[in-house]
Amino acid sequence: MPDIIQLLPDSVANQIAAGEVIQRPASVVKELVENAIDAGATNIKINIKDAGRTLIQIIDNGCGMSDTDARMSFERHATSKIKSANDIFAIRTMGFRGEALASIAAIAEVELRSKEHDRDLGTYIHISGSSIISQEPVNCDSGTNIQVKNLFFNVPARRKFLKSNPAEFKHIINEIQRIALANSEISISLQHNGSVIYELNGSNKRVRIVSLFGKSINQNLIPLDTQTSLAKITGFIGQPKHAKKTFGEQFFFVNQRFMKHPYFHRAIMLTFEKMLPPDAVPSYFIYFDIDPADIDVNIHPTKTEIKFENELAIWQILQASVREALGKFNIVPSIDFDQAGSVEIPMPLNNYADVHAPKIKVNQAYNPFEQSSPSNSNSGINNNYKPAPASRSNLTNWHSLYQGLEPNYAEQTDTPDEPIQFRMEEQQTVKSSVQFKNKYILTPVKSGLMIIDQKRAHERILYERLMQVMETHEVASQQQLFPETFEVNASDATLLLSILPDLGALGFDVREFGKNTFIINGTPGVLNTSSPVEIIESLLEEYKNSPATLQGKARETVAISLAQASAIPYGHALKPIEISELIDNLFACQTPNFSPKGKKILSIMPLEDFEKLLK
Ligand code: ADP
Ligand code: MG
Repeated sequence: MPDIIQLLPDSVANQIAAGEVIQRPASVVKELVENAIDAGATNIKINIKDAGRTLIQIIDNGCGMSDTDARMSFERHATSKIKSANDIFAIRTMGFRGEALASIAAIAEVELRSKEHDRDLGTYIHISGSSIISQEPVNCDSGTNIQVKNLFFNVPARRKFLKSNPAEFKHIINEIQRIALANSEISISLQHNGSVIYELNGSNKRVRIVSLFGKSINQNLIPLDTQTSLAKITGFIGQPKHAKKTFGEQFFFVNQRFMKHPYFHRAIMLTFEKMLPPDAVPSYFIYFDIDPADIDVNIHPTKTEIKFENELAIWQILQASVREALGKFNIVPSIDFDQAGSVEIPMPLNNYADVHAPKIKVNQAYNPFEQSSPSNSNSGINNNYKPAPASRSNLTNWHSLYQGLEPNYAEQTDTPDEPIQFRMEEQQTVKSSVQFKNKYILTPVKSGLMIIDQKRAHERILYERLMQVMETHEVASQQQLFPETFEVNASDATLLLSILPDLGALGFDVREFGKNTFIINGTPGVLNTSSPVEIIESLLEEYKNSPATLQGKARETVAISLAQASAIPYGHALKPIEISELIDNLFACQTPNFSPKGKKILSIMPLEDFEKLLK
């Protein structure tokens, strides 16, 4: 048999490597901006078209490259940042794997202009799908100007899996926020489709945070400052009372590199534990300074996961640091580092579903002046009233008093495999329904036990109501007593502006109120919402995460996103009356079986399964 193993051509190897390093336009932005930072730039301009699908351009005033280096930079494993494996353990630069430019050039068309400061002429290189099209001298500014066009032009599968433009642009914003927070001394500007999104001047960390997240965050920031021999921790934590329900303002940096660290996140959540409203996450911007030898940044090509040699010790330092900061600002009454000294702040009961107000039952048929009254007076209200001795017939009819109260499963019907037809008379089922884990509703049916997903059910109900509003044009808007203003980030502002007419058609009265600021005057009558700003914020999240195919149907997407954003969340305890309303309303829907995004709302666990389980 002939030998069959061959070395892959570089272009193929680079494309495969690109799969790991470059997942989406935001990854290109991250790699290129990090290169600019490593090149010592103090000013970085980012210019994006169509969320990076058409163009990603980064212009820096860093050290630039010589002709040969510019050419070399596109080779795989070509880097100026390390020379031997040991250098990785003293790494202070963002890059070192020498993979990014080679990967990008394998899956896009790249034009690079670069000039060192002491040269008169720079160099121009044009590469497409790993092949060099031209290289020539060029008159250009010192530093590097790189343009990446038609990303994934030769990897259609990747291109197809990109999300909508707003979603992809949000990823870009996230990357830029991380880099901008880690390097507040560097000026960074961002333009998208010609409009200016950020114009950040070099500044200190606090100013940078405020220019990214809005003025209102300023008074919310509590500084951290802890120095130990192992690590230095600086930055800010947000006050517990300002904690939000959505993620977006939680950042860890180690040696000026953004990192994800679920374990340290937990340390913070535990420290804040008793001070937060349920489901809320505090903001934090925490910077660790650590000897590079004590961490490993090489565990993942995107380098957002970092391994710490002394993780446990750093966890403790972090908790102490956060506690101390909260203590100094009188948020925790004690600055003791141990739990014993601090005051327990009572939390509302999580499980108040199990607690019920006492109920008084009244027999409405009871008439004290009617001798034949079937009831016995134990009320003690009318002491003069002497009940007539109970007659035989009264005793035999006693159970008629309880008619309608006892469950009667025999009459319930269902057909599990067809769309379930729920009859409104089946009140018994509703009465015996219970909520389970604050997430599901369990309701007995003839053939077994029906399990309903409470959030999806509510999404379906709201969605059909919203669609009805749109179709009938019977818009009911509930005016806000106190119109609320709110600020969103630049990319969300563009998105919100584009869907304002659709929101209007649903009964939202939202208007632009200055740069990136909006005012809510009214909310849709069909939604019962106490926090419209939160609804709009999660609506934007849901909208961005909708698949690109849905984006064509803007109105429907808005309705779906709005239904998702305002549906009863998991973890929310329902009162019995709310449970029965939810079931009634669900089965009054046209499509009670599936959520607006096509997920199953309900399922039946057949009786036989119970029997099998208990065998
Ligand atoms: P890495 O950053 O891991 O070294 P890259 O593929 O991102 O790998 O870049 C390869 C090399 O190209 C870098 O090591 C650097 O020498 C050079 N380079 C890339 N971008 C720039 C830039 N903006 N300015 C100067 N040099 C750059
Ligand atoms: Mg790099």
